[in-house]
Amino acid sequence: MSLFESPFFQDAFSQLESAGATMKMDPNVLERLKYPKRALQVSVPVRLDDGTVKVFEGYRVQHSLTLGPGKGGIRYHPHVSLSETAALAMLMTFKCALVGLPLGGAKGGIKVDPTDMSRAELQAMTRRYTTEIAMIIGPDKDVPAPDIGTDGQTMAWLMDTYSQLKGYAVPGVVTGKPVAIGGSLGRAESTGKGVVFCINFAYEKLNQKITNSTTVAIHGFGKVGMPAAHDLHSQGAKIVAISDVSGAIYNAKGLNIPAATEWVRNRKLLRDLPDCEHITNEQLLELDVDILIPAAIDGVVTKDNAHKVKARMIAEGANGPLTHEAVDIITDRGGLIIPDILCNAGGVIVSYFEWVQGLQMFFWDLDTVNKKLHDIMKTAFDVVWKAKDTYKCNMKQAAFISSLSRIEGAMKLRGMWPG
Ligand code: GLU
Repeated sequence: MSLFESPFFQDAFSQLESAGATMKMDPNVLERLKYPKRALQVSVPVRLDDGTVKVFEGYRVQHSLTLGPGKGGIRYHPHVSLSETAALAMLMTFKCALVGLPLGGAKGGIKVDPTDMSRAELQAMTRRYTTEIAMIIGPDKDVPAPDIGTDGQTMAWLMDTYSQLKGYAVPGVVTGKPVAIGGSLGRAESTGKGVVFCINFAYEKLNQKITNSTTVAIHGFGKVGMPAAHDLHSQGAKIVAISDVSGAIYNAKGLNIPAATEWVRNRKLLRDLPDCEHITNEQLLELDVDILIPAAIDGVVTKDNAHKVKARMIAEGANGPLTHEAVDIITDRGGLIIPDILCNAGGVIVSYFEWVQGLQMFFWDLDTVNKKLHDIMKTAFDVVWKAKDTYKCNMKQAAFISSLSRIEGAMKLRGMWPG
């Protein structure tokens, strides 16, 4: 598959071009940023529980290492491809630069449905994938983390495999690890927490407050959506709808979030939750709510359904949930979009804290983590808000512009090799 083949890559590419044009970016720098620095494709043979061997397609793409080691998650999903991984790596470059981290952008993944696999199969697949990409990862080179379909356990296997290859424990090779092996307090809920910080910052700018009549719909009640639901619920907002792969549940008076959490944590599907109204994921996206948080996967709001999305504010918890066209349609009708590279940056910010703590072997308390997360996100939010006013553009473009100006500055200082 070619780099440019997936709609997601084309979309990221067109956002880059349009922001580059608005800020009058140096065309030579823009040209460089369209391509990843390197992309590794690997084959991952796994002996399944029935004794047969199946080979999965895996990738690790480093888009840019200008500002520091590559950073970005590893995704286990049937849609993973070289092109999608390259697009996600590009977004990680922009995300890390936007929030001022000394890190580049990378992403990895395996084309697989992990929900079909046993623990032993998942472990074998993760260990072999790690071995195959070991030559390009490492605390100074590229530091993976969880993404869709992977979690703290996956990262623990990755850390162990890399450490076995080296002969000593290397916690800094990966973030999103369990706390017991060098993970950071607060990492698990950091992405959702950051989403809610951004919503709060946006409400402050609009001179509004979250009250018990503020309605929220959350697409994807997982690693991002669940902690976001909790924080908004504890601020008094009414979470009227949440969803998972099986469908959505709705209650105009507000859902019982602690009960839904308990249900999902017990590995049960929302479809089977009794005593509530069931709607589809598509209906959830079109609810008339104050805040919509698409926190599941990319491309859920496109030019085909953007006209039906009524939410006043959309906080992009996932990477790329709105296509470029959908962003334009929604901002043209006055909707405020908090863009992914800002809105979901809480995860990689606390990943950065985890990496720093791991390198120093000195660990912080939860308040320190959350306070530093808040302050970094506040600074980034203010920068983007200001760029929106300066360039008279939407928040998505403003986030790209703010990030690109940082990368452009750094690339020009480092220069091109060979000149
Ligand atoms: N996968 C997450 C993201 O897309 C986290 C990446 C990281 O922590 O390195 O931002």
